[in-house]
Amino acid sequence: MPLLHIAGRWRAGRHERRHTVFDPSCGQPIGELGLANGADIDEALAAAESGFAAWRQVPAFKRGEALLAAARRLQQRGEEIATLLTREQGKPLAEARSEIAGTVQVIQWYAEESRRSYGRIIPPRVPGSALQVLREPVGPCAAFSPWNFPLMLSSRKIAGALAAGCSVVLKAAEETPASVAAMVDCFLASGLPDGALQLLYGVPEEVSRRLLGSPIIRKLSFTGSVPVGRELARLAADQLQRVTLELGGHAPVLVFADANLDAAVVQLAGAKFRNAGQICAAPTRFLVERSVHDAFLERMAAACEQLRLGPGLAPGSTLGPLASARRQAAMQPLVDDALANGARLVVGGTRPEGQGFFYRPTLLADVPTQARAMGTEPFGPLVLTRPFDTEAEAIAVANGTRMGLAAYLYTDSASRQARLVPALRTGMVAINHASVSSPEAPFGGVGDSGYGSECGVEGLDAYLQPKFVHQFPA
Ligand code: NAD
Repeated sequence: MPLLHIAGRWRAGRHERRHTVFDPSCGQPIGELGLANGADIDEALAAAESGFAAWRQVPAFKRGEALLAAARRLQQRGEEIATLLTREQGKPLAEARSEIAGTVQVIQWYAEESRRSYGRIIPPRVPGSALQVLREPVGPCAAFSPWNFPLMLSSRKIAGALAAGCSVVLKAAEETPASVAAMVDCFLASGLPDGALQLLYGVPEEVSRRLLGSPIIRKLSFTGSVPVGRELARLAADQLQRVTLELGGHAPVLVFADANLDAAVVQLAGAKFRNAGQICAAPTRFLVERSVHDAFLERMAAACEQLRLGPGLAPGSTLGPLASARRQAAMQPLVDDALANGARLVVGGTRPEGQGFFYRPTLLADVPTQARAMGTEPFGPLVLTRPFDTEAEAIAVANGTRMGLAAYLYTDSASRQARLVPALRTGMVAINHASVSSPEAPFGGVGDSGYGSECGVEGLDAYLQPKFVHQFPA
C-alpha cells in the first residue's frame, strides 16, 4: 500500500530517493518508502488550503463525532496496528498496545473538547454595544512527529488541529511509516473532506523548508530534537507561523529519604525503561538523598536485572531494542564518557552480541555533573544516579541543564513539595508518581525543551485564533 496521502488519495512519493525501513529487533530491512518530491509537497499544500475551507465549515459537534469515529476505528484495528508499530519501532507488543490505548484517549479527549471551544461575551463600556470574542481555526497546519511514539505524538497534532477546524499536513517519521499511515486511514474513514488531512514522508529538510516556506501554512507543531526545532522555528519566522515545539528533556528525579523507596523504584524503573528509554519525559538524572542512595541503587539494580531484553514481538520481552542503529550507536560513547569522568558501573554498560539495535539496561552511579550524559539527552536505557546532601544542592543539579520538560519528586513532606514545585525549572512536575502525560493536561516544557503545550485546553487553544467583534447598534 502506498503510504502518502495527498488530496484524498493514497499514493507513493515521486522523489528519486527512497527510504529503507528497518526492523530494529534484527536490523534487517523490511520495506522501501517512496518519498515526496517538491511537486508532491505542493499538491499537499494546495489540498490543505481547500481542505481547510471545507473542514472549517463543519460544525464543531460534527467534527467531534468524526474524531470519535476515528478513535473507535483505531481501537477496532488495535491489534493489527500494534503489530505494525512493534515491527518498525521495536517496542514490546504490550507497550505498542498501550500506546494505541493512550492514542485513542487523546483523540477522544480532543473530540469532546471540540464542542467546548467557547468564545466570550465581555461587558461593554458603552450602553447598547457588545464585545464578543470568537475563536476561529488558525488555518492549515504543518505537523512533524517523531519515531519514538509515532501514533501518540502524531495524534496530539492531528486531533488538536482537526478538533479546532484546521487542516493538517503531517510529516511523520520515515523510520516508522506504516503504523502512522494505518492511523491516518482511521481518521480518513471517519468523514473528513478531501484535503483535511495529508500524510507525507520525505527528505525531512526538504519537506520542512517547502511547507514552512509557504504562506498557506499558518501553524507549525514539531516534536523532536532541539537542533531541528530551532531550525524549524527559524523557517516559521519568515511566514510568521504560530509555533509549538516539544524538543525533549533531561528529567531530574529527586528522591528524598522520607519517600516510599520501594514504590518509587518500581514506578521509576517502569518509566525509565519503557520504550527503551526513548521518551522525552523519561526520568534520567536520579538525584537521591545520600542516606538512601545505596538502598535506592540496590533496588534499581534488581529492577534492571529483572528486565528481559528481546524482540518486541517475542512473548516475555520487557525491554525492546532501540529504534535505530543511530540511537544504538549513541549509547556507548555516553557510557564510556561517564566512566572516564569517574562514574561507577553497576549494571549493563554494553550492547549484547548478535543482531538488532539492542542496548543493555544500564545503571551508572555517582555520575559527575560534567559527564556528557548529564547534559545530553541519552534517549536510551541509561539510569544516572548521584547522591545529594541538601535540598539546595538537589535543586541546583536538577536545574543544571538548559532543558526543562519534566521533573519527578519523591517525598512525603508537604512543605518540601510546596517549596520544590516552584523551584524546579520545568513545564511539568510529578509528585510521588512517574507519569506526566494525560490527555486533559498540558504537556510541554521550558528553555531548550521548547514552548507551547499539547493536550489540555491549552493544546486546543494552540490551533485557535481569537477574533474580537465590537458591535454597536446601527
Ligand atoms: P534527528 O534530529 O536526526 O531526527 C529526529 C526526527 O526529526 C526524525 O524523525 C527526523 O525525520 C526529523 N527531522 C530531522 N530533520 C528534520 C527537518 N529539517 N525537518 C523536519 N523534520 C526533521 O535525531 P534522531 O537521531 O532521530 O534523534 C535524536 C534526538 O532527538 C534524540 O536523542 C532526542 O533527544 C530527540 N528526539 C526527541 C523526541 C521527543 O519526543 N521530543 C523524539 C525523537 C527524538
